[in-house]
Amino acid sequence: LVRLRARLARSQNTFGKTLLGLLSRDHLDDDAWDEIEDTLIGADIGVSVARQITDDLRTRVQVLGSRTPDEVRALLREELVKQIGPDLDRSLRTDRHGEKPAVLMVVGVNGTGKTTTTGKLARVLVGDGKTVVLGAADTFRAAAADQLQTWGERVGAQVVRKGEGADPASVAFDAVKQGIDTKVDTVIIDTAGRLHTKTGLMDELGKVKRVVEKQAAVDEVLLVLDATTGQNGMQQARVFAAVVNITGVVLTKLDGTAKGGIVVQVQRELGVPVKLVGLGEGPDDLAPFEPGAFVDAILG
Ligand code: GDP
Repeated sequence: LVRLRARLARSQNTFGKTLLGLLSRDHLDDDAWDEIEDTLIGADIGVSVARQITDDLRTRVQVLGSRTPDEVRALLREELVKQIGPDLDRSLRTDRHGEKPAVLMVVGVNGTGKTTTTGKLARVLVGDGKTVVLGAADTFRAAAADQLQTWGERVGAQVVRKGEGADPASVAFDAVKQGIDTKVDTVIIDTAGRLHTKTGLMDELGKVKRVVEKQAAVDEVLLVLDATTGQNGMQQARVFAAVVNITGVVLTKLDGTAKGGIVVQVQRELGVPVKLVGLGEGPDDLAPFEPGAFVDAILG
């Protein structure tokens, strides 16, 4: 939480401060409420959600009459947490069926932070005492396998890779096989995310998943989204959701944007929870997503 707060402080705090400032005004006229709504929309929270939060706040502020800063903060906190969904199950399914290994696929557009997230995730799992195999199924991007190899060495995970241009599904198959043969707890498959043709992507990801499922159930398909890309990221999310059954979202680069509201939008549209957030490029910069802590970090 301390980390999250520090990381978000730089980028998101202005959003929280602006909202708190607006809500603390003595006279909240229509213009002020419009500003509040605009601030929420500016944070990529989505127009309808922004309106709903604004309406709810307006009703509650009217009931309250005069407001102390603490009351304003508590109201705003409650509304934001409510919209983010405090009751969604955000746990990673790494132990669900008790059979080893659990298999996680990491998908998303190139550049969103897939490989980095795969490495960080391995770090978390190794830290929890689990053994991990990483599958470098992003065979399209030349440096991806090297990058993953470096992560593997860094965090203490095995890496399965093949040459550039190899069939991603065969790498995924081998990674799961090695996971089974060496009895590791978790296999994480890093996939390629080129979006130039939707059919190509669909074929490839579908094939990777089918091939993996010949040997083991896929427990999680994590979609990596770059929080700084706003509506573009939402568009990508729609494409991936149409192609694979996503079980959770990892929102990366939250350290570099005031547009954390995308959390709300992506959950609404995809119907899957944000499970993890990326807060930097380092090995420990991956955190579980907790709505309360997230909102507290925003509000400062
Ligand atoms: P991929 O193509 O999706 O596998 O993306 P990479 O994992 O190679 O990441 C692309 C760039 O984003 C790299 O420079 C990463 O270090 C950086 N990156 C990934 N996650 C984060 C994050 O949470 N915060 C920041 N600031 N940078 C990140």
